[in-house]
Amino acid sequence: MFEKILIANRGEIALRIHRACREMGIKTVAVHSTADSDAMHVRLADEAVCIGPARASESYLNKAAIISAAQITGADAIHPGYGFLSENADFAEMVEDHGITFIGPTANHMRIMGDKVAAIKTATESGLPVVPGSGGALNSVEEAVKIAKDMGYPVLIKAAAGGGGKGMKSAYDEEELRQAYKLAKQESKAAFGDDTVYMEKYLQKPRHIEMQILADNYGNVVHLGERDCSLQRRHQKVLEETPSPALNKEQRDKIGKVVCDAIKKIGYRNAGTIEFLYEDGEFYFIEMNTRLQVEHPITEMITGIDLVREQIRIASGAQLGYTQDDIKFSGHSIECRINAEDPETFIPCPGKVKEWHAPGGLGVRVDSGVYSGYKIPPTYDSMVAKLIVSGKTRNGCLMRLRRALEEFVIDGVNTTIPLQQRIINEADFIDGNYNIHWLEKFLERTSSEKK
Ligand code: ADP
Repeated sequence: MFEKILIANRGEIALRIHRACREMGIKTVAVHSTADSDAMHVRLADEAVCIGPARASESYLNKAAIISAAQITGADAIHPGYGFLSENADFAEMVEDHGITFIGPTANHMRIMGDKVAAIKTATESGLPVVPGSGGALNSVEEAVKIAKDMGYPVLIKAAAGGGGKGMKSAYDEEELRQAYKLAKQESKAAFGDDTVYMEKYLQKPRHIEMQILADNYGNVVHLGERDCSLQRRHQKVLEETPSPALNKEQRDKIGKVVCDAIKKIGYRNAGTIEFLYEDGEFYFIEMNTRLQVEHPITEMITGIDLVREQIRIASGAQLGYTQDDIKFSGHSIECRINAEDPETFIPCPGKVKEWHAPGGLGVRVDSGVYSGYKIPPTYDSMVAKLIVSGKTRNGCLMRLRRALEEFVIDGVNTTIPLQQRIINEADFIDGNYNIHWLEKFLERTSSEKK
């Protein structure tokens, strides 16, 4: 087992990783930018190294600085968290080249899944159902027009290098498609330095359902059930729950088996998530995330499995030590992402948190690095806390979530707590009756009602 792990991230996830390490008796090294000197994970870690200025490109994305920090402190492994360098195959390779273990999959698997066109090809070859579409990169707009004509509109142009919903444009007819093709290429070039795009049928009422898997280095693979992440704004998740109100045990077992078989075929190792769109009883693969997900805690709450601990164990060469039959799903869990943003306009609202009081009690977990007096820097993602609640039933979980949101006090900055409260009080949400377009429609409807 590792003696010291460097945490190449910030915020709540850095703290989350620190906690897992502590419980395993592993020492931690925090790395931070000058904007994060007062961060909670920096305070709690055994050692801390400042790796650069506030701008992420010079600190949290600075591969050489992070590897030097690991060498100086004698860390034997690096956990990348999510975002930043977590899906950067070159970084994983560099880490391993320096004799340090990268806690995650192989660079090769990261490379394949990081290119969505290659990922779709691999998924198809491994038996996963995919969204009808171009099946590969588009070479010209004329090719896109031809495929769309055969397949039918609407269609969605997506960036091969995509992430965070960038480079994604829908089109309802040929004219729009010509425009979408151009825009998606431009946006993708600007965001990822790569303008490769592909096309999928734009599904009208799917849910986003993803399967969590764990695989060790010896071919043992299990799935930990699904997460329903259909509540999204601008293709970004806002609230997630497990189990999905749309799946029963039989459907879960069936897709779980398909996913585990595919993962075995691919030879993937460590934690990963296969994302699907789910419509009319059918699953369609959209991408695989080769890292820990923001929403992983809801899976932990219903399985009792600590995903970060498992990632570390697997990376150290341990066997899973359990099979699919050993995994028991119990109860229901929901996560609300709390962003420091105006809950109406979504304009980020960094600044000093004057007072912070997190809810507690049975079945309530708050993952956050914020404390009273903490200054939220303007430089990074606006998510400042995750409220994760669990209960024996979905209804019990909802009642608990309502009371936990009521108790949450974050003074000094605007947050999306009021938005979360509005969502969970909607009849559609209470009935589990929503898809990936629901939240945007709800926001449109309620803002026009106010006018
Ligand atoms: P990214 O990596 O940029 O987040 P994804 O492929 O994971 O992109 O898609 C993000 C979200 O965009 C999905 O959860 C879904 O809401 C929407 N989306 C993606 N592909 C489609 C599609 N073919 N039809 C409808 N919505 C889609």
